[in-house]
Amino acid sequence: MPVIYSNDAHYAEDWEVTQKWGEHAIKGTNGAEVIAELAPAKKDYIIEKRTYSSFYETSLDQLLKSLYRGKGVKTVVLGGMHTHICIRHMAADAFFRGYKIIVAEGRS
Ligand SMILES: [Zn+2]
Repeated sequence: MPVIYSNDAHYAEDWEVTQKWGEHAIKGTNGAEVIAELAPAKKDYIIEKRTYSSFYETSLDQLLKSLYRGKGVKTVVLGGMHTHICIRHMAADAFFRGYKIIVAEGRS
């Protein structure tokens, strides 16, 4: 099963940085990297994003459609840190693109 990491990798000019959350996950800094405990394997994919949704102005949809020798992915399993923000927006964008959606449940 393909694993795709989609991390914030902001520019200082991004709306999230200037208008909402302040400086975080700036592209090229440790804040934009996957934490060591969840480090990607060599075969995993990494898609950088600049907004809540991993689909917005990224190549994620194109990647999902190209997987399995062009047959594409039909279902996405979503997991992340902020369910009410990034997962919410990503789920909506996945829904509008026709993907079936599973949101992984975590416990802390
Ligand atoms: Zn952000």
